[in-house]
Amino acid sequence: MEEQLRKSDTLSVIGQLAAGIAHEIRNPLTALKGFIQLLEDMIKEDHSMYFSVIKSELNRIDSIINEFLILAKPKVVQYIDSDIVNIMKDTIELLKPQAVLHNVQFKFEVEDEIPTIVCEPNQLKKVFINLIKNAIEVMPNGGFITINLRLLEGKEILISIQDEGEGIPPEKLQMLGEPFYTTKEKGTGLGLMVSYQIIDEHNGQIEIESVQGKGTTFLIRLPTRKDDRQNEGIHKHPNDYR
Ligand code: ADP
Ligand code: MG
Repeated sequence: MEEQLRKSDTLSVIGQLAAGIAHEIRNPLTALKGFIQLLEDMIKEDHSMYFSVIKSELNRIDSIINEFLILAKPKVVQYIDSDIVNIMKDTIELLKPQAVLHNVQFKFEVEDEIPTIVCEPNQLKKVFINLIKNAIEVMPNGGFITINLRLLEGKEILISIQDEGEGIPPEKLQMLGEPFYTTKEKGTGLGLMVSYQIIDEHNGQIEIESVQGKGTTFLIRLPTRKDDRQNEGIHKHPNDYR
């Protein structure tokens, strides 16, 4: 528990720095992409391989920058009363094409009446996207992803995302969420870091249960009532006082 807290403190410092840098890099990067495209249209033949390498590397930078930008807190944090079930439904719809491509099917279970909570819906959606994408990517031969929403003693919403992938070896478990830790050729190793950060800002927790050869379950706990800590006294929203 303590370990997790310390990790997220470090992450928020890294995050703030990185988000600042990410902002600065994004504009020149956009210009670069535009000019490369123009050049390609002009030169094309004989050099198409160079262009595809350049573009794929630029896209890689782009996705790293975008992950880091998520860590930048908007000036006014928009915590609004939102329906987690709907956010999850939207996410599943969004990822269905990718799932179909991988022969993956979703099972979506809502066990209780889930109350709305005060949160940043887009940030939470980002977390769900990250975790479900990881689940899809870990099942190259298809299978089921089970997404379950439950209410724990009225105090917490428990969201579980369970895959049938290869699982995570115990010694690798604590690496998850470290910046740039990835086992994928084209991975950024930032998705989980960003997700931990966002859930932390919602006073929630992420836990992982994994059985090698059987699959992995990511569990997100979100309090139904948010305490005031994360708002640092400046971003208070009327609904925070329900
Ligand atoms: P990326 O997906 O770009 O590699 P992430 O931060 O999303 O970065 O994930 C980091 C690493 O955690 C992955 O490369 C993978 O090794 C591991 N991981 C994440 N989710 C799962 C999962 N559902 N099953 C097995 N390993 C996972
Ligand atoms: Mg990922």
